[in-house]
Order: sequence, then structure tokens, then C-alpha cells
Amino acid sequence: KAVAHWFRWDLRLHDNTGLHKAHEAATAGGVPLICLYVFSHEDFHAHCTSPARIDLTLRSLRILKGDLEKLDIPLWVEEVAERKHVPGTILNWCQKWGVSSVHANMEYEVDELRRDAKLVAAGVKKDISFNVHHDTCVVEPMVLRSGSEKPYAVFTPFFKKWEPYVWRNKLLDKLSPSPGKNHPDLNTRESFKELFEQTSFPVPNEGKRLSEKDAARLAKLWPAGEHEALARLQLFLEEHVAKYADRRDRPDIEGGTSSLSLHFAAGTLSARQAVRAARDHNKRLSLDAGHHGWIREICFRDFYKNILLVHPHVCMSKAYHEEYHNVVWEYNDEHFRRWTEGKTGYPIVDAGMRQLASDKFVHNRCRMIVASFLCKDLLLDWRKGERFFMEHLIDGDFASNNAGWQFCSSSGTDAQPYFRIFNPLLQSEKFDPEGHYIRKWVPELRGVRGKAIHDPYARLPASEFKKLGYPEPIVEHKFARDRALERYKTGLGKN
Ligand code: FAD
Repeated sequence: KAVAHWFRWDLRLHDNTGLHKAHEAATAGGVPLICLYVFSHEDFHAHCTSPARIDLTLRSLRILKGDLEKLDIPLWVEEVAERKHVPGTILNWCQKWGVSSVHANMEYEVDELRRDAKLVAAGVKKDISFNVHHDTCVVEPMVLRSGSEKPYAVFTPFFKKWEPYVWRNKLLDKLSPSPGKNHPDLNTRESFKELFEQTSFPVPNEGKRLSEKDAARLAKLWPAGEHEALARLQLFLEEHVAKYADRRDRPDIEGGTSSLSLHFAAGTLSARQAVRAARDHNKRLSLDAGHHGWIREICFRDFYKNILLVHPHVCMSKAYHEEYHNVVWEYNDEHFRRWTEGKTGYPIVDAGMRQLASDKFVHNRCRMIVASFLCKDLLLDWRKGERFFMEHLIDGDFASNNAGWQFCSSSGTDAQPYFRIFNPLLQSEKFDPEGHYIRKWVPELRGVRGKAIHDPYARLPASEFKKLGYPEPIVEHKFARDRALERYKTGLGKN
């Protein structure tokens, strides 16, 4: 007999609720703990998971396997082609290895909730219990309610409730300990030899694989695993968090934000652990603006995961505010292609999209700028952008990405009103004042001096602009703004 933990996007030992519960159950029952990860090709396709994120997952799994082995706990990676076979494959695996109970951390997307419901029901017939735990959020979803007992639809009041709730209930003092070793008398290494000896991991399908060159480059840029995540967290706290409030909106400043999102998304860092570390690092009696601002951003993760549970229609390509379905979009493949390639003629937009192409990560301010440009200036359906982001981001997370896109298209919770439209040129001047970020990502513009960097087409003599080999703006902002206002107004029936 054995107890299993099924890893999902929680690839860590520290503060992992499901893993801890599995270890407790195994210890109480005097049986070994064994672990599983299911590599489901169809799920990666269905969820548009990027090759970079899949590669990060495989790298994280190798590290996790090594860490678990030191505790005499095996980790097996099971490969499944079609997602409908996931429940059956897991049940067979459990029967093969004598697993009587499986623990896992809950995923809040609709497909995943349905899959888990099927497993619970199928498990009952085979005497295998499935236990799913809340883990990824600091505060369990749906717990916080407004005065009228409704779930929150706006972030600021949610945060106002969230923060005192975390402190008052001492949530951060109760982090789950990492599991201990399997007891030597259980002979785990002998009994589960095959699981320990798995050396080759699944290879992602064509189209979901990185080239060797990209894989090597991204492995260097984004080292995987929880040790790296904790070290990066410590470094951010020591060197940067104090200045976070002033620098978080500046893509031109190295260390302005933590770059920890890929670790939160892979689950190699626990959000509770991060908030606790920030609280403990804060030297003043009350949190200073930097620490407080950073904790507030982490609360956004919780907020958006709540939205998935309360409003599951957002998981089905629907706008949070359904009246936004009536907005009539443009259908312009050429514009979409130019946006994806970073060739719109708007330097800050192009810099953001080229950062995405290269690093599979984009600074938050630039995510907002490029998203707003797609939905409002190009008037292209936000879902095209949402999908493209998921297909490329290393930190792609359904809840945060969907909410980010819906915020920018004005259809989401707490969205910016449709009539407030980012001016990409003003955004550029404000948040990349010297143009360092643009020059880093748009080599054609490296030689452009002064303010012309933000709008070279308008600010340089035509002959000089021509020499740059940089495209002219694909739309004029004033025209695009008026068109978006009109289209949104009509779509919302405000004419
Ligand atoms: P920091 O500023 O250091 O913030 C710390 C952590 O707080 C982040 O790592 C992240 O987990 C969380 N966080 C910060 N801002 C947000 C936010 N607005 N919403 C939710 N969580 C937040 N974030 C993702 O993790 N995955 C995505 O796929 C994703 N897609 C986005 C798409 C759009 C259009 C927009 C506007 C935002 C998106 N975000 C996404 C949110 C945000 O841009 C990133 O979390 C952030 O840029 C990550 O950088 P960081 O780790 O340095 O953040």
C-alpha cells in the first residue's frame, strides 16, 4: 500500500499543502509516500501552453525528482496523449503501485475541476480516495465576501479585506513543512525501483518543443526549480523591494520588479512563502510602500483565481461583462502579424513584443501597453492576443492572463473604462523616459537620440527616418482612438 501526491503546477517541496497532507497520511498509515506528474500533451495544446513553459516544467521536474530522491520518495512522470485518458491512466497507476489515496492541489479552471470531479467519482468505485486541497492562493478562494456576502468583483475592496484577514488569521505562521524521509523499514527504494529509475522524461510534441539553442538560452535566463526561486526571492528582497513602489512601472530599470512570475506559475514558489518573506524582511513597524506594494501585487493572483471560480464563463472565451460580446472587431491579419512581430511602428509596443519573442516574458507595464494597442488601436479581438501571450509566455497563467487581457479590453472586472484609451506615445515617454528599454529591444532605433525615440516617424526628418529601416506606424493613434470609442459605444448600445 502507498499514498501518492499528484504534482501539478506546484513543483516544490516547501509549503505545499497537498504534498504535506499526503506525507501526513502516509506517516499515519505507516506506508510510503510516492509521487506522480502527468504530462498530458492534449492539455498543453488545449491550453496553448508555450514551449518555454513546458520546457521550464520539465527542468523543474528534474530538480524536484532529485530533491525527492534524497527523501527516498520516488517521482514518476506519466505521459498521456489524450486528456480523456488522464483519469483512467491515474487509476491504473494507483492500482499497479497499491495506492489507496491520492492528494493533489486544486486547479480552478473549468476543465481541471471537471477532470477532478470525474476522478473522485471513478476512484470511489475502485476504493481509491482523491483528496484535493486549496493551496495556490494565500487566502482560500471564495472565503472573502463583501458586506452583502457577495464575492468581490473589484480588486481594491478585495485587497482591503484580504490583507487584515491574512494578518489576523496568522495564515503565514502556518506554512506546511516540507515532507520528511520515507521510513527506512518501508523499503521504498526496493519496492518502487522502477519509479526511482525513470531517467527519460516525455518529449513535447512538434510545435511544443524549443530548439536546442533556445532551450539552452532560456535555461540560462530563467533557471528552474524552487532553490532558484527562493534565492531570487531573497535577492529581490535584499536589493530591490524597498524601491518597488517607485520603480515597478519602469521597464527600463533592471530589478524594478521581481521576475518571479514564472516561479509562481510553475509552483516552484509558494505565494504564502513570498508574502511571509516580504513581511519578515520589512524592518519597520508597519509595511513600507515597497513591501506593501509588492504584497498587493501578489494579492492580484488570489483575486483573479477567485474570479475563475465565481465566473467560470471566463474560462470559455467569454467576456466577464457579457455585453462586450457585441463589440465589432476588425479582422486584419496583416495588422495582427505586424503586432506579433513587433513591427507596428510604435517603438514601445514593438519593444514589448520583441521582449516577448526573445525572453518569453514581458514587463507588466508593457503587457498593458501592447494589449491595449491590440484591442483599442488595432481594434482586434482581445482573445487573439490572450492566446498569443499564452503560446509564448514562460509565466503563462490562465487566470492572470485572461484578467490582464480583459482589463485592457475593458471587458473584465475592475477594467479600465472603455473610453480611457492608452496613448502609446505618452506611455512611452512616461515609463521609458530615456528610451533605454526601446533601444535594448529595437536595434533599428539604437542610434536615435532624445525624445525622437518615442515617435521617430513624426519627430525625425523623413530622410533620416527612412534610413532607419523601421516601419511607419500602422495606424494613426487619433484615428484609432475615435474608431474604438465609436465601436465600443455602439457595441454597448450607448448610441
Ligand atoms: P512583480 O511586480 O514582482 O509582482 C509579483 C508577483 O505578483 C508576480 O510575479 C505575479 O505573480 C503577481 N502579479 C503582479 N502583477 C499582477 C497582475 N496584474 N495580475 C496578476 N498577478 C500579478 N501574470 C502572470 O503571472 N501570468 C500571465 O500569463 C500574465 N499575463 C498578463 C497579461 C496581460 C495583458 C497583463 C496586463 C498582465 C499579465 N500578467 C500575467 C500580470 C503581470 O504582468 C505579471 O504577473 C508580471 O509582469 C510578472 O512580473 P514580476 O514577477 O516581475 O511581477
